[in-house]
Amino acid sequence: MRSLGSLTRYAEGRLERLRDAGQHRTLKPTRRMAEGRAERAGRGLISFCDNDYLSLSCDPRLIAAASQAAEQFGVGAGASRLITGDGPLNEQLETRLAAKKGLEACRVFGSGYLANIGTIPALVGKGDTIVMDALSHACMHAGARLSGAEIRIFRHNDLAHAEALMGDAPGQLLVLTETVFSMDGDLAPLADLGALCERHDAWLMTDDAHGFGVLEQDNPAPLQMGTLSKAAGAYGGYVCGPAPVIDMLTSRARSLVYTTGLPAPVLASALSALDVMDAEPERAGRAKAHAAHFCKRLGLPAPESVIVPLIIGEEARAMAISAELEEAGYLVTAIRPPTVPQGTSRLRITFCAGHSQADVDGLADALQKALRS
Ligand code: PMP
Repeated sequence: MRSLGSLTRYAEGRLERLRDAGQHRTLKPTRRMAEGRAERAGRGLISFCDNDYLSLSCDPRLIAAASQAAEQFGVGAGASRLITGDGPLNEQLETRLAAKKGLEACRVFGSGYLANIGTIPALVGKGDTIVMDALSHACMHAGARLSGAEIRIFRHNDLAHAEALMGDAPGQLLVLTETVFSMDGDLAPLADLGALCERHDAWLMTDDAHGFGVLEQDNPAPLQMGTLSKAAGAYGGYVCGPAPVIDMLTSRARSLVYTTGLPAPVLASALSALDVMDAEPERAGRAKAHAAHFCKRLGLPAPESVIVPLIIGEEARAMAISAELEEAGYLVTAIRPPTVPQGTSRLRITFCAGHSQADVDGLADALQKALRS
């Protein structure tokens, strides 16, 4: 009982500090539906803040594929992939993903987060150096820390700074960045970064979570990871690269070795998503056209992706605008520190294939009104 008391007191103290810092978060149960629709607390809303960019998560074809796979293979993988959890859909998905990325081989992980925290420490360790973009996702930072390598962080997309940090780096150099930055929607200068890595004999690894299926760029990186939980509408992560590297990950990536394989319905829905991406490239085009139209309406610079950040600055104001939008029927969650730097609280607005032009115009009107008030 004594230890339970101290545990509760510890949590209460932590909660108080989180509340004081404005960092106490709560869950908001939401039912997501097709075409960017959502329901929260019994109210119908149009969501402009999820990552279901191609509106595939509720697509009947993916649902049918998942149901069929559940019938055929069951709903759980039963064990790690190295035991009996490596059902046949894993290999099919890996073959398709490697081909899509133009790389030799691929390994599917339980999630994008697991892919990063397993792969980075499998590649480098103590005595090596990681040079990474400051705005790389939390799971790249986590993977870097887990590796034990020295971490050097360059200013966002500042390649001169990156090069300066590479100069006297001990051991093997691993360079990490995102292709499309999750909270800013801008792109990494991949060609120049590739050339820089070439000059310094550094390995470049990119996180394509927000590009995959929406904004496929020429990418010189020999190691490319991504997720199946955003444009692909399903779940899971992947890493593509040279066959020996992928083979090595199977033995060394702890987040692959020591965790259960993905359920067959999830793998089947990801495979179905790849079919839809190939058959209907116009879906990505629609999401991009919505983002461009919205930016034009608000007088913002043309977007580089389907993610449009509206930097508000103060946390309270971002929250108030988000609440006003929700009142008007639009779901746009405010993103605050520590997810983004202090003073850059923002509305992260994302566009998807299922939105209509009327949805986008409606959001633009509501936002203009909220910004005036
Ligand atoms: N990388 C980036 C850039 C992300 O935005 C995310 C998800 N927010 C991830 C990795 C993690 O992917 P997953 O959700 O599949 O764990």
